[in-house]
Amino acid sequence: MSDVVDIAVGISVNKTFHYRVPEELQAPLVTGSRVLVPFGRRRVTGTVVGFPAAAGVSGVKSVIEVLDNPVTPELLALARWMSDYYLYPLGQTIEAMVPKALSRSRLKKKKIVRLLNQPAALRGTKQTELVRMLSEQGEVELDGLTGFSFSTINALKSAGIIEVVERELPPAAPEDFIPVAPPLLMPEQREAVHRINEAVAGAQFGVFLLHGVTGSGKTEVYLHAIQQLAGSGKGAVVLVPEIALTPQLLGRFRKRFGSRVAVLHSGLTDRERADEYRRIQSGRVDVAVGARSAVFAPFEKIGLIVVDEEHENSYKQDEGLRYHARDVAVMRAKFQNAVAVLGSATPSLESYYNAKNGKYRYLRLANRVDHRPMPEVSIIDMKTRSLTGLYAPTLIEAVKQRLERNEQTLLLLNRRGFSSVIICRECGAAIKCPSCSVSLTYHKSEQNLKCHYCGFITRPPAACPACAGIDLKLLGSGTQKVEEELQALFPSARMRRMDSDTVKGRDAYDRLLQQVDRREVDILLGTQMIAKGHDFPSVTLVGVVDADVGLNLPDFRSTEKTFQLITQAAGRAGRGDAAGEVIIQTMNPNHYSILHSRTHDYEGFYHEEMQYRSELGYPPLGRVVKLEVKSPKESHAFEAANTARNRIRSLIRGKDPALLGPAPAPISRVRGQYRFQLLLLSPKREAIRTLAAEGRKAVEEKYGRRCKVIVDVDPVNLM
Ligand code: ADP
Ligand code: ZN
Repeated sequence: MSDVVDIAVGISVNKTFHYRVPEELQAPLVTGSRVLVPFGRRRVTGTVVGFPAAAGVSGVKSVIEVLDNPVTPELLALARWMSDYYLYPLGQTIEAMVPKALSRSRLKKKKIVRLLNQPAALRGTKQTELVRMLSEQGEVELDGLTGFSFSTINALKSAGIIEVVERELPPAAPEDFIPVAPPLLMPEQREAVHRINEAVAGAQFGVFLLHGVTGSGKTEVYLHAIQQLAGSGKGAVVLVPEIALTPQLLGRFRKRFGSRVAVLHSGLTDRERADEYRRIQSGRVDVAVGARSAVFAPFEKIGLIVVDEEHENSYKQDEGLRYHARDVAVMRAKFQNAVAVLGSATPSLESYYNAKNGKYRYLRLANRVDHRPMPEVSIIDMKTRSLTGLYAPTLIEAVKQRLERNEQTLLLLNRRGFSSVIICRECGAAIKCPSCSVSLTYHKSEQNLKCHYCGFITRPPAACPACAGIDLKLLGSGTQKVEEELQALFPSARMRRMDSDTVKGRDAYDRLLQQVDRREVDILLGTQMIAKGHDFPSVTLVGVVDADVGLNLPDFRSTEKTFQLITQAAGRAGRGDAAGEVIIQTMNPNHYSILHSRTHDYEGFYHEEMQYRSELGYPPLGRVVKLEVKSPKESHAFEAANTARNRIRSLIRGKDPALLGPAPAPISRVRGQYRFQLLLLSPKREAIRTLAAEGRKAVEEKYGRRCKVIVDVDPVNLM
């Protein structure tokens, strides 16, 4: 080993640096070691990524300290791939993969000294004293044994009387659990489990798309496949969308695997997250269940990576390292010869396309467990009705029946469609956030206006800020108003609202779901949050109050998202013994996304949607990279975006790739920053990433810190 290492530092630079390894370092450095190094005037964390030849590196600075356990070679390989693919510095990519508290903690964990055996006889008073102390106190911290020399401690240690060990991590879950016997699988489930197990046993990389209708028992398939891994020394990772990471779901894993499950969700403190991470590293955990970042769970060996609800947008990180956890899961499986299982009732077009092409293997669960019927779906055309309220009589009647039968109802609203805004009747403008180009939402209970992008809060003004007119009117119907109208219709119903205003934090969210589970709620009214993955057997009616609000958003995936949302929401109905019914209120009753969700026809939807995608070269047929240029000065942002455009244009020969923009982003200003975007589209992904990097470089060269350029590979958010 040479005495020089190559280090990727955790800051925004696109190269690595050489450091010298001083002799007095506590631990040997290996590839993947996390270290503290001087950088300019700061001390920063970094990762050893190589051992270059020592020649000609005089004058380099020295590593200060070795931090926690090294990143495994496989995770380092994954980091290199992500850094390259998402055009993000390697050092920062690694920082994004390990918990924050971990990168600050030192390798010297506290050590403790413990008595192993009561000795028959001892030499010297010091040894006797130490043994007495340990038998009284049980264990003592090594640092606390100031009155004893190392030779005393070492003599007792080599005689097998005491041991010196690292402090144990706090146990994460109680050990006293009795594993619950799994149910007998349905034939389709059995077939799926069989094929997954076969692949896992072969330890060959492969990806399965598990396409199972809502209530078909996908989770049970994951549980069985994981069970099969037990004793193999290989871990399993299960990714779920943050919002689906409920006590209900975790309970299912805990009942099966007890404390051998680690949980990684956003509610953990940095410390707790680091502890879970170490439990995984120490081999005391077989299964890691978590949101997006659990894809980096530090198992040395992995057999299986599950991505549940793989179509969910929340798998894409929207800042910093803009990775898509589903795609990273597939790559990680590839690096570790593992099997990836992507599950959904409404697969993303990308994954379904891959399954059709034979890139992924396709597993289908076409039936619900116990052959429960799919819910009956009816569509109500809201255009032709002259409604007095928000609810069609059919829906009102259906809710009434459920109340009488003591069954539960879910009502889905689309947040965006139900924001209340204040409009000036003189100039027609809505009152907007001063720093974001969106309307402010009126909150009745607090009587204020809020910006849902930056959190700005203000009192409703007396006059229009744009034209000083004083004829202001409240428009739209916030979820609050929808709730009031419902309460007026059903005064005695136990009603709860679930949206980001009423439900703050994990605990509140979990409590509310438990209330629904215990049937203390008759009607649950809410936004997207209520559509995800829940399994409430007593819900027999799902009403979609406004199915089409999402259809007209300036995003090529808006139709797909609408189809997924309706299908998923409908999938909450009829999961128990009683059959389910779904009522969809819409202004676009003939739109294909609505028609196909009525008949639970994924395949039909896929074919229609693919036609439109192929005409425009959108994913999954083409690849997209987005460049976003931001500046507090609009002219700077626009000029800089054009600088990027010109550089990219000069490098394109012919028609491919297509370059769109610059155009103001649909939300053209956020937190005081003007935003312009460029889209690069091509079937060839290498080419557009290189071009995007060139565009970014051009702006950085010319504008330095005055403009910020963000490259987003495979963007999900185009707003
Ligand atoms: P999905 O994730 O496909 O929507 P779940 O895995 O949540 O479906 O299963 C739906 C319900 O059926 C759950 O309550 C689950 O416990 C139950 N279930 C799943 N498989 C079986 C089976 N083979 N036998 C009996 N019940 C099952
Ligand atoms: Zn704002």
